[in-house]
Amino acid sequence: MAVLKPVGRFAPTPSGRMHLGNVFAALVAWLSVRSRDGEMVLRMEDLDTQRTSAEFAQILRDDLAWLGLDYDRETAPQSQRSAVYDTYFERLTELGLLYPCYCTRSQLHGVNAPHLSDGTYVYPGTCRSLTDPPQGRIPSWRVMVTDKLWTVEDKCQGHYELNLATDCGDMVVRRADGVYVYQLAVTVDDGEAGVTEVVRGMDLLSSAPRQMYLQELFGFPHPEYGHVPMLLAPDGRRLSKRDRDLDLGQLRKRITPEQLIGTLAHAAGLIDQRTPISAAELAKEFRWDNLRGDSIFLDATQLL
Ligand SMILES: [Zn+2]
Repeated sequence: MAVLKPVGRFAPTPSGRMHLGNVFAALVAWLSVRSRDGEMVLRMEDLDTQRTSAEFAQILRDDLAWLGLDYDRETAPQSQRSAVYDTYFERLTELGLLYPCYCTRSQLHGVNAPHLSDGTYVYPGTCRSLTDPPQGRIPSWRVMVTDKLWTVEDKCQGHYELNLATDCGDMVVRRADGVYVYQLAVTVDDGEAGVTEVVRGMDLLSSAPRQMYLQELFGFPHPEYGHVPMLLAPDGRRLSKRDRDLDLGQLRKRITPEQLIGTLAHAAGLIDQRTPISAAELAKEFRWDNLRGDSIFLDATQLL
């Protein structure tokens, strides 16, 4: 039987330079696919047209090239795909699963319901059976979720489960301003691009069951998931976009891609010694089993 090649993806948001966390997630996504002779797809996630730009998209492509992380094709950016998302929105309408939500932001934030660790709240279904919708207000649209336990066997985090009915509530798929939300756009884009594995930061783990539900409704197969740990400073603080001296704009002036990749690979447990190494060399010995699933501590002074 022919073994299908894996298809992975880079899905950056072109709103600034890549920081270390982005670089690490992109590196692992690439290693996982290239170590098995698979295909990589690039897609710009620019739904937020206020914060993103074509200039940053070009810089991201250049940063990936500098890192040695190549890809086989680039699919259309999300900002150009509203008409495609419309057809999937229509499908949810035909399934009878959509309803308008008129809740204001303050109503939603006042919701007296449990909050998940990722800061989201459980929508209590306030507008599910609204008989008297408020006049003159444009609604967002929610998809009804079902009482079902979704399980993810994550390549990095192991077993994870979420019940959308009790842990999330009915999900917004289109905002009042007409913009489709991340969960719908990602599901459609990954599904249409034939993506078979999604590797990204741990902060998106709770998105996986949301996307699996939409995949089921749209008729896409579920991809495999790998949610890589966050990078933490030695004091436990999360390294983030705020650490401007650690974005690629700064790092590229100081170190080589091999030094950066060697430092990340060593902190993540992928190599025993902290030594410069190219992504291509690292791919020869990449195994998910070697990757730390918990937080990765990185002494960034090594990169300064
Ligand atoms: Zn509502």
